[in-house]
Amino acid sequence: MKASQFLISTLKEAPADAEVVSHKLMTRAGMIKKLGAGIYNYMPMGLRVIRKVEAIVREEMNRAGAIEVTMPVVQPAELWQETGRFDKMGPELLRIQDRHERDFVIQPTSEEVVTDIARQEFKSYKQLPKNLYQIQTKFRDERRPRFGLMRGREFIMKDAYSFDKDRDAAQISYQTMREAYKRIFDRFGLQYRAVRADSGAIGGDLSEEFQVIASTGEDAIVYCPNSDYAANIEKAESLPPAGPRPAPAQAMAKVATPGNSTCESVAQQLGLPLAQTVKSLVLATDETDEAGQVVKTQVWLLLLRGDHEMNEIKVGKVEGLANFRFATVAEIEEHFGCQPGYLGPVNLKKPVKLVVDREVAVMADWVCGANEVDFHITGVNFGRDLPEPEVVADLRNVVAGDKSPDGKGELLIERGIEIGHVFYLGTKYSKAMKATFLAENGKPTEFEMGCYGIGVTRLPAAAIEQSHDERGIIWPDAIAPFTVVVCPIGMDRSELVKAEAEKLYAELLALGVDVILDDRGERPGAMFADWELIGVPHRVVLGDRGLKEGIVEYQHRRDTEATKLAVGEVLAHLK
Ligand code: ATP
Ligand code: MG
Ligand code: MG
Ligand code: MG
Repeated sequence: MKASQFLISTLKEAPADAEVVSHKLMTRAGMIKKLGAGIYNYMPMGLRVIRKVEAIVREEMNRAGAIEVTMPVVQPAELWQETGRFDKMGPELLRIQDRHERDFVIQPTSEEVVTDIARQEFKSYKQLPKNLYQIQTKFRDERRPRFGLMRGREFIMKDAYSFDKDRDAAQISYQTMREAYKRIFDRFGLQYRAVRADSGAIGGDLSEEFQVIASTGEDAIVYCPNSDYAANIEKAESLPPAGPRPAPAQAMAKVATPGNSTCESVAQQLGLPLAQTVKSLVLATDETDEAGQVVKTQVWLLLLRGDHEMNEIKVGKVEGLANFRFATVAEIEEHFGCQPGYLGPVNLKKPVKLVVDREVAVMADWVCGANEVDFHITGVNFGRDLPEPEVVADLRNVVAGDKSPDGKGELLIERGIEIGHVFYLGTKYSKAMKATFLAENGKPTEFEMGCYGIGVTRLPAAAIEQSHDERGIIWPDAIAPFTVVVCPIGMDRSELVKAEAEKLYAELLALGVDVILDDRGERPGAMFADWELIGVPHRVVLGDRGLKEGIVEYQHRRDTEATKLAVGEVLAHLK
């Protein structure tokens, strides 16, 4: 590729709504362009990265014996009614109607459609096992799309679905996918952990998330450095603590704190890991003196359950979690548009139901800690018919420093970005959709299923969170938009530079290297700044003076200085 023929559109400034570094850098590097909330153009530079991610995923899925298929983005509601998900799924599912007022959904995932294929195609146990996958656009009407491609509404996912004749076979399919995922994430050069995740009603350990370790991650993961124990915070367990640990009710008690408390100071006071408090909404009442000065702040920690995340709440200031300042009741009331005095002070003499009279997503479906056992406040979602949230007695299932369940060491907590998820489904979908095959005994039998997702467009963002510096992105070779950039200096002035640059470019192309020649005629400073921002891992600079001595300069994106190479050594060096 020649830069003059390509689209390079780097920006000096990051957009105002970019909170995390990957969003800032992908936008500044001209890789993505926002079209609407959670909806992005994948610009040519970004698309090259995405295509490389897809290629690796595709290669490893094929190697693992999965078969590629493409299922429609727009799917008839009938199939979704068979499983009940058309009605049961919340507003994340985008429902649309065609000109005949027939219902459709935009696929957030494809269990229904793939099960429909299976019940038509896989008639006999002899055809099993089968694993169908696609790399396809998804739409989820996320409550709060943010962080660029990390939590988009439209995004690309690789989703695979396995069909087996029985439970044992399904476990083998699951393990095969799990191994494939490890190979995939190893090839991306990412630091990640496979952690146990909730497998819902089915139980057991057959659900794991692949989490890229990053301080900006939305998930908390618990692991033991001495063994392979790792789980997400929702699923994590520990051996009973040896020493006394405050009883949960105490730990969640209303505490008097100075008005200028921080998340950290209260976490410390309550003996909670910070990672857990950041998943909490903090309700506070200020006690003021006659002059209106805050003399003390009463604080409740409301631990949100399920999908709710702290940052979604946007009470107070949530820039870096450590800076989080507690919101006062008044601030929360204002934020949710409640009447002053609506929320508090809350009488905790008995369990209280806090009814919110309009759809305020965050105030629904949550449970809080209380100052006495069983005196919890629960949120109720008005307007939507969700089951009542259960009251959680001990929200602190694991604290950093607890003993790991295998007894091999102390647990640590760190943050992660979910880039993949493998899940054993059992017969949940095949039962609902009457998807059967003829078993060896001649009887129609429901498929045992598994589903396996990878966030194709989230992955580059996660990679950047893990690998960048103040100048820009540092791509691993495997998914860099270009692996090598050739930067000639004064190409328009020096025939020698032009000839050598073109020659090197042609030779690298012939070797199959993904190289770009920067023939735009930019000055060196601007040219280098662009490529450092874009994050191309290998750079070769050719100048007239060096070339006359037979020398060019090589620099890896991580190097602080360039290395001089003889012209003849370049190819060997880059191979
Ligand atoms: P999250 O917990 O981040 O909302 P999820 O558990 O809802 O993700 P899955 O249903 O397990 O996601 O989907 C499989 C993969 O798709 C996830 O592991 C993630 O990498 C990716 N993914 C999910 N939601 C999004 C999104 N809004 N934007 C980009 N990628 C996403
Ligand atoms: Mg989700
Ligand atoms: Mg998740
Ligand atoms: Mg998941």
